[in-house]
Amino acid sequence: MEPIPEDWQRGLVIVAHPDDIEYGAAAAVARWTDQGKDIRYVLVTSGEAGIAGLNPRQCGPLREDEERASAAVVGVTEVEFLGYPDGTVEYGPQLRMDLARVIRQHRPEMVVTANFRETWGPGVLNSADHRAVGLAVLDAVADAANEWIFPELVEPPWTGARWAAVNAMVGITHAVDVTATVERAVRSLCEHNAYLTALSAEPVLEQAARQIEMATAPRPGFDAERAVGFELYVFGG
Ligand SMILES: [Zn+2]
Repeated sequence: MEPIPEDWQRGLVIVAHPDDIEYGAAAAVARWTDQGKDIRYVLVTSGEAGIAGLNPRQCGPLREDEERASAAVVGVTEVEFLGYPDGTVEYGPQLRMDLARVIRQHRPEMVVTANFRETWGPGVLNSADHRAVGLAVLDAVADAANEWIFPELVEPPWTGARWAAVNAMVGITHAVDVTATVERAVRSLCEHNAYLTALSAEPVLEQAARQIEMATAPRPGFDAERAVGFELYVFGG
């Protein structure tokens, strides 16, 4: 298990829903912003179908606000929502083109996304949006660098993305030492207050602490008290 490369300055985190970053990856984001890196978030949906009993028209803006507050806790101020429909995001050229556009606009060296595999492990299905978005993010890194695949994009191609790191449970190749940032990761997740309150009767702080404890468990072969795991893809060269 190797440490993830950190010789870069700009990172772009692209996920399907508000809260996808906060269940673990935000601990690494806090470490990177502490290092002076410029990290930005792009959310494909606003998570408006995420709270039972709450109309999506009210839920969407609420969850966007919670995501912005979560981002601020770990030093991220630029948060963009693409407005895809929560729950029915489809993998395809439209999604790839929109993601290639944001990659060209933000020009990241490191792209971060979440698990796109069919499952989280045996018998635990991953959601349709996660499967579509994670895979499209990886494809869009290459699309963003190619001038011919989406000629309708006005932004110039961006060939500077060197890595994509997928925050996953299985297939982990690299890790980030987050011992110093676990507490901020818990606070970042706690900002999803309405969402977590609707999810469970357990107090929000206890839910968040338990989730981050699981997400930052020590990794075999990686010398850190707390760590977040990623599957690293290398591009270019
Ligand atoms: Zn999600």
